[in-house]
Amino acid sequence: MTTLSLYRPPSRSTALTSPIHILDPQTIGQIAAGEIIERPLSVVKELVENAVDAGATRITVTLEEGGIALVEVVDDGSGIAPADLPLAVQRHATSKLALASDLESIDTLGFRGEGLASIAAVAQLEILSRESNAEIGARISAHAERAGRVEPSAAPVGTTVRARNLFANVPVRREYLRSASAEFNRISGWLSTFALAYPGITFSLHHGGKEVWVMPATVDMQARLAMVFGKSAAETLMPLSAEAARGMQGALTGYISSPGNDRPDRRMQLLFVNGRLLRSTLLAGAWTAGYATFAMIGRQPYGALFLTLPPEHVDPNVHPTKSDVRLRYGHQVFDSVKRAIVTTLRDHATQRFRDAVTVSPAPQSMDRSLAQLQSLFEHSPSETDEPETERSTLRVLAQLDNTFILAADGRALVLVDQHAAHERIAYERIVAAAQNHGPSEALLVPVTFELGPGESAVLDRALDILREGGLDIEHFGERTYRIAATPAGYRARPFDIGGFLGDLTEEPKQRDVRERIWASLACHSVTRAGERLDFSEMTTLVERLQLCENPMHCPHGRPTIVRMDSEAIQRLFKRI
Ligand code: ADP
Ligand code: MG
Repeated sequence: MTTLSLYRPPSRSTALTSPIHILDPQTIGQIAAGEIIERPLSVVKELVENAVDAGATRITVTLEEGGIALVEVVDDGSGIAPADLPLAVQRHATSKLALASDLESIDTLGFRGEGLASIAAVAQLEILSRESNAEIGARISAHAERAGRVEPSAAPVGTTVRARNLFANVPVRREYLRSASAEFNRISGWLSTFALAYPGITFSLHHGGKEVWVMPATVDMQARLAMVFGKSAAETLMPLSAEAARGMQGALTGYISSPGNDRPDRRMQLLFVNGRLLRSTLLAGAWTAGYATFAMIGRQPYGALFLTLPPEHVDPNVHPTKSDVRLRYGHQVFDSVKRAIVTTLRDHATQRFRDAVTVSPAPQSMDRSLAQLQSLFEHSPSETDEPETERSTLRVLAQLDNTFILAADGRALVLVDQHAAHERIAYERIVAAAQNHGPSEALLVPVTFELGPGESAVLDRALDILREGGLDIEHFGERTYRIAATPAGYRARPFDIGGFLGDLTEEPKQRDVRERIWASLACHSVTRAGERLDFSEMTTLVERLQLCENPMHCPHGRPTIVRMDSEAIQRLFKRI
């Protein structure tokens, strides 16, 4: 480790007598601090978390040179009694934890009593504080294991902590820092997202003598979301389904982006566990799993999850800078988060589908829809003025370019992507068959096909999962296969086995392997773009689509339906 060069060389005499020696307190302090204070952001985190623990309603962070020259955090919290100031800067001194058994039930952000001492080890620390009932405040300074005396001092109620010249005494660490602007960006990014969990606190950030931003305290969560995510992104956020945490020990709330709103990376998938902004590889997976068929591959949804867990289920101690969290019963939490995301997305999709299309409850026969189609053109406008319920019935009007189904419901034009829609229907059928161990239909004339060695290996790995989904493919000689049965009701549509295997070899691995195989199976066994459909086929397709759990998107996350309402049409005609 490069940090070895930080430590003072052992004094000559000890070095001569024995290679093993006890480090001096200053070195020990620097080593311990090195684990907690990596960069200016670490200082800000420790101080801001202390301010939150102290019950502050206003937290002001002021930086010079990206925090390297100065980090100052001013809060209006409980303050520290003058007699406690020397303790506060001592290592392992905390008001938040008394016994080892308490470690299991911490409900404050800090608990190790190492924050202030670690900062003092690598910077010049100064604390000014006044309790609300005190006439005058007090100050103390500390640096490199030496604390000054407590002196009376004028101070506002609350606490001001300043850390100057970070790592001035540890040149190696200092060199490791990035530019002031890069360090500033980290701090601004962290503080502005951290603020999401505390809408009741006013946060502000100053740099180089200027106010950079301020987030006023608010009771309106939407306002805080808009500040953190930006206004338009925040508008696409949906609150997590209320029953999200059912069956879970603890609570789960949050906001997630609606399908079609995504980002190229995971940076805005924010996770708060008991008020701490953390990263969790495990729960990042729950986002992916939850959005499996709702998000485009390679794109990431965004939002914020707030988990409240029994403190003894969270081990924030895993990483000294507390950036990754280990959860006891992590897999239960994973399941709850995934379920909450899926439920929210489904409810949302069902609602949007209802808003987009109202199909008559009784399935129309083909004759009827044809008759209606004719009547649409034959009758005068006054005669087609049908009762409200009739008017909201979706009618298939035409197929466009052998690719899209054009329909109308009296209020809007609706375009359905025939391939995407059929894909969604087939996909849900396959999933249902797999879940209910639904029957397969043996083919009267099994289809046989032969594959190259590469493709054959890919298919062999998928055979069991395909069988679960109702598609039974058997070996029929070396690298020759035959399709023996398909999911019931699925019919023997021409199955594009080449395209299917191509998908399986190409698609990225992040998605659940079952979902991926079934989505590909659906994709290559349904109506394609460019295929002519007759009216009964189109009507059946649209009717079946409405019965889907997620009718708005194909399993790859592309939209199935686009609605153009009267207002949009009026805009085209420049009426509004
Ligand atoms: P920890 O937060 O783990 O307890 P710290 O070294 O960060 O350890 O702080 C030590 C103690 O100093 C805290 O337990 C708390 O009693 C007191 N303290 C620190 N910062 C503040 C603050 N901003 N307001 C009130 N008390 C504080
Ligand atoms: Mg602390």
